[in-house]
Amino acid sequence: MPVRPDNVRVTTARETALAFAEVLLPGSGALGSAALGLDRLDPLLPALAADLAGSRLEAAAPRLLDAPGAAGDAARALLERAGSALYADERTWPSLGYRVLQPGVHWPADPAVTALRTTALADVGDSYDVVVVGSGAGGGTAAHVLTSRGLHVLLVERGPSVAPPELPLDHQRNARVSTGLPHQLDLPEHDNPRVVVGLDGRRRTVDSTDPEWSGNASAVGGGTLVYGAQAWRLCPEDLAMGSRYGPRFTDWPLGYADLEPYYERVEQLAGVSGPAVPRTWDGPRRRGYPMPPLPDTLATTVLRAGADELGLETAPPPLLISSRAFGGRPGCVRCGNCVGFACHANAKNGSAVSTIPLALATGRCTLLADTVAERVLDAGPTGAAVLLSGVRARSGGPLRRTVRARHVVLAAGAVETARLLLLSDLGNSRGQVGRHLQAHPYTGAVGVFDDVVQDGLGPGPSISATRYRHGNDPVAAGGILANEFVQTPVEAWHKLVETGLVPRWGRTGVEAMRALANRTVHLAGPLQQTPLPGSRVTLAATTDSRGLPVAALHATELPSHDRAAAEHLADRAAQWLTASGATTVRRTLPSRTAVWAGQHQAGTARMGHDPATSVTDPRGRVWGQESVSVADGSLHVTNGGVNPVLTIMALAWRVAEAVAADLT
Ligand SMILES: Cc1cc2nc3c(=O)[nH]c(=O)nc-3n(C[C@H](O)[C@H](O)[C@H](O)COP(=O)(O)OP(=O)(O)OC[C@H]3O[C@@H](n4cnc5c(N)ncnc54)[C@H](O)[C@@H]3O)c2cc1C
Ligand code: SF4
Repeated sequence: MPVRPDNVRVTTARETALAFAEVLLPGSGALGSAALGLDRLDPLLPALAADLAGSRLEAAAPRLLDAPGAAGDAARALLERAGSALYADERTWPSLGYRVLQPGVHWPADPAVTALRTTALADVGDSYDVVVVGSGAGGGTAAHVLTSRGLHVLLVERGPSVAPPELPLDHQRNARVSTGLPHQLDLPEHDNPRVVVGLDGRRRTVDSTDPEWSGNASAVGGGTLVYGAQAWRLCPEDLAMGSRYGPRFTDWPLGYADLEPYYERVEQLAGVSGPAVPRTWDGPRRRGYPMPPLPDTLATTVLRAGADELGLETAPPPLLISSRAFGGRPGCVRCGNCVGFACHANAKNGSAVSTIPLALATGRCTLLADTVAERVLDAGPTGAAVLLSGVRARSGGPLRRTVRARHVVLAAGAVETARLLLLSDLGNSRGQVGRHLQAHPYTGAVGVFDDVVQDGLGPGPSISATRYRHGNDPVAAGGILANEFVQTPVEAWHKLVETGLVPRWGRTGVEAMRALANRTVHLAGPLQQTPLPGSRVTLAATTDSRGLPVAALHATELPSHDRAAAEHLADRAAQWLTASGATTVRRTLPSRTAVWAGQHQAGTARMGHDPATSVTDPRGRVWGQESVSVADGSLHVTNGGVNPVLTIMALAWRVAEAVAADLT
């Protein structure tokens, strides 16, 4: 068969790209086209090859990596592919001091770990007491509470039901990094675009490989399948931000005393390990954590000494991770593959191993995976219907069904719950749905030490300071600081290049990675952000593969007072690292403008006392809709200076209890 000129061009362009990759990061070009995923770059490579023709590759690199236009774009994309493939390759790990399991440690064989049993769409009933949409942190908790009250629940999840130990531990597809490849548990990338609206109103269609797409995991368990599992409570001050800091914040319609019993229930049931003594800005608690914290790491010792010198109180962070056998499952084996991966030891206590199995065990929960809730229909005082679309079990052909319920609970995550409310024309008579989308501008500092300070013992966050959650006058709000999760080499490479500690290309870059990968510590925290009405989810003109308008995510600029608070927290992190012996410190600050969604997305259906300024009442019921409630991060009025998941679960418990009280 004759070779087509196009193929020749692609082959030549790939060969040039491999040679250039080898110059950009020695060792990467030798991995070959398939390992680098060059097929994804094919449309870009001819421009690169044309630019490089006849030039010395070393000389072209610095110019091209900063060049505007197609060849520059191709060079930067190739560098990303080269770095990700190189550092995801196990053969580089010994030189970086990274290992997945410590010597002599094995994943515990847990026969209980199988994918949760699901029912085919064709086989589900026509009506249920409650349909819960989304099986993540909020939906799993709601399903547990509702079924434990004797109600029959259909739990609908658009992603698959998976067995974590069967999921590959591919560092390039980890949920914590953006390498240009699809994340392990994201939706098929081209079927589910979103639109990002910039400050200038310009619209950009993004797929799930783009960080601004703002994904959590789409699978039974949602974000809790791959989360890092930091399990913080909001404190009393977090729920009264308006009273404390003025009108740019709004108070929650409930106080800490209303939430405390629900925090306790989640901690005891799902399983949180944490310190025995209360910390600064902790609210009062009636019961301690059910498990002690995980043991120290090498970094804990180093950072504790620095904190002691500053007189800074520290404690291990609370984690939804078992520090010993708990709930019939093994304890954590402290691997180097925690955040962004599902746990192969079955020790990470997300919905898929805690609340949903309990719901299924009642015999009153039907779990429907791989099925999208498209719209809520006919909502009225006695119930509503949900339009579902999935596939036929045998033929794989499309199938749509409508299922009725006495009540519908939306827990699809803050972006998709807002989208569903808008698609269903529910709760938006005052134009509030989708507004106040918020996240966490992460802020902190990276410190370089003379000696090795990382021992690779997972999950990683082992010491935290809560002093800066509040009381940071003159700046408002603040956040916790904690050391980061054990970083995969791919993640470490991104971080060290971003901070300028490792040159982004060349042999010096590879050598600096080897020298610094386990001699750095990143201290960071989620900054409490001002909710803005213009930071929002709307419906785009673009549609998904089902023909439904997708979410448009509107970027906003971080207000100056939030930027000042970020500087303050970054300075505190830098001070702590310096006191701990870091010889070089680089602050890590959030970007000035962004889509404030991501993995901590919240706030798009906030609760309140006034229907003019909120979407749900204080029980989580959509204003004017007795039969529809929200039970996920969308409810958050403010998002705290801590990770959100424990609050999402506690609120979902409270919402579900209120629904159950009405229906039983
Ligand atoms: C890598 C990573 C690390 C994280 N680390 C932490 C941490 O350490 N601590 C912390 O507090 N939080 C952490 N988070 C965030 C945490 O996981 C989320 O805050 C939490 O899972 C959100 O809960 P949710 O119920 O609002 O939504 P999700 O858990 O995202 O669940 C929503 C579910 O709804 C499904 N869905 C959406 N639309 C539809 C539809 N139309 N029909 C059917 N199903 C639908 C989705 O597929 C998904 O499974 C992390 C997240 C990630 C991804
Ligand atoms: S570190 Fe995380 S992923 Fe590894 S065994 Fe422990 S909980 Fe599981």
